[in-house]
Amino acid sequence: MHDANSRELYDRALSVLPGGVNSPVRAVRPYPFFVERGDGAHVVDADGNKFIDYVMGYGPLLLGHDLPQEVESRIQSQLSDGPMYGAPAEVEVELAEFIARHVQSVEMLRFVNSGTEATTSAVRLARGYTGRDKVVVMQGGYHGAQESTLVEGKSGGTGTPSSAGIPQSFAEETITVPFNDERAVREVFEARGDEIAAVLTEPILGNCASVGPVEEYLDSLRETTEEHGALLIFDEVMTGFRVGGLQCAQGKFGVTPDLTTFAKVIGGGFPVGAVGGPAEIMESFTPTGDVFQAGTYSGHPLSLTAGLEMLRYAAENDVYDYLADLGDQLRSGLTDVLEDRAPEYTVTGYDSMFKVVFTRDGPRDRSGQCEAGCRQDPDCPRFDYCPKNKADVAAAETERWERLFWPAMRDEGVFLTANQYESQFLSYAHTEEDVEETLEAYKSAL
Ligand SMILES: *Cc1c(COP(=O)(O)O)cnc(C)c1O
Repeated sequence: MHDANSRELYDRALSVLPGGVNSPVRAVRPYPFFVERGDGAHVVDADGNKFIDYVMGYGPLLLGHDLPQEVESRIQSQLSDGPMYGAPAEVEVELAEFIARHVQSVEMLRFVNSGTEATTSAVRLARGYTGRDKVVVMQGGYHGAQESTLVEGKSGGTGTPSSAGIPQSFAEETITVPFNDERAVREVFEARGDEIAAVLTEPILGNCASVGPVEEYLDSLRETTEEHGALLIFDEVMTGFRVGGLQCAQGKFGVTPDLTTFAKVIGGGFPVGAVGGPAEIMESFTPTGDVFQAGTYSGHPLSLTAGLEMLRYAAENDVYDYLADLGDQLRSGLTDVLEDRAPEYTVTGYDSMFKVVFTRDGPRDRSGQCEAGCRQDPDCPRFDYCPKNKADVAAAETERWERLFWPAMRDEGVFLTANQYESQFLSYAHTEEDVEETLEAYKSAL
């Protein structure tokens, strides 16, 4: 595989961009390939190599790299009307109406410019609305590059910053617990429930190997927060309009949060974020309330047009059914490949999300196991072995995944997310042939 052009670009990049990249996950070793263009389900790099792409911009590209004609022409027409105004535009109302119509917990939205900004604003809103300071987050959860959630610690204990540059005193307002541990959350609330503004969690740990919730876990978070007057915030930045179709993951799992954060898919590939919830809470944002929230680019017409047209396209076509079927096909194909090559490994993911986790142990007898990815089914023979939380994923073979498996898949022409933690994504542009080719690549690389 030729890579002279990517290598030279990375050499230049190292002089002007820290680590040669603008987001650390892109800095794969020894150097990343530079993308020249997207093409349906593929990307082509600066040396002309073509890969089946399962990174899909780390989530936003629900339809793949080529936008349908009508989506593209609406974006172009918005562009020719001028990129942004600093005054309201109709598209803001339209996208808000679309989301409120489909997502049960959402009555109003505030649009921002990234997932990070959405979770930052949601945490501030929860604190302002409840008059409490502490937030509970999951170990292994990811809510963007923000102060309140870049925190680690022992279950229920005092948090410490997981990044330099965050004061210890900030981290102390955040309590971490393991995902899927109902009791850990109950204990935290029993000890200091009246100080807790919110529990903030992804419904599926999309940034931690797509670990899903065990039965009743999300319901238990709903009950515990309600009992103690705290808010439940679902971070659906990744799962929103990807898992569960138009009703999102909260609809799929049948649990209604107080607030929801969105980004990724709702921007159609352009920068966006949003916080949604009932008017009663949302009107605490300025100008109606006293929780300050603002942004020059907020509700950016180009991003919102791209998001609205992509979602309309998905609503009017078989996008979500197609993706759920193709996802099942890929995950069950992977389960079969593992049966032969690495029976201790676990397939995870829902709908168009998937991952193979290099777990170290599995059951001898796998008859009756989850067929198309782990469903956290207590009757599955793999149940006691499949990952439930961050510690389980960290205990899997993360080095083998990253250093040997990822490059082997790249050499097979398959572009996966950079490590064992990040989810991978199918798009509407992927075909059954792509899936077959991908399964062959897994067979060779494992
Ligand atoms: C990607 C992601 C974020 C951060 O969004 P950015 O747009 O990268 O700031 C937050 N939460 C979740 C669940 C994500 O997947």
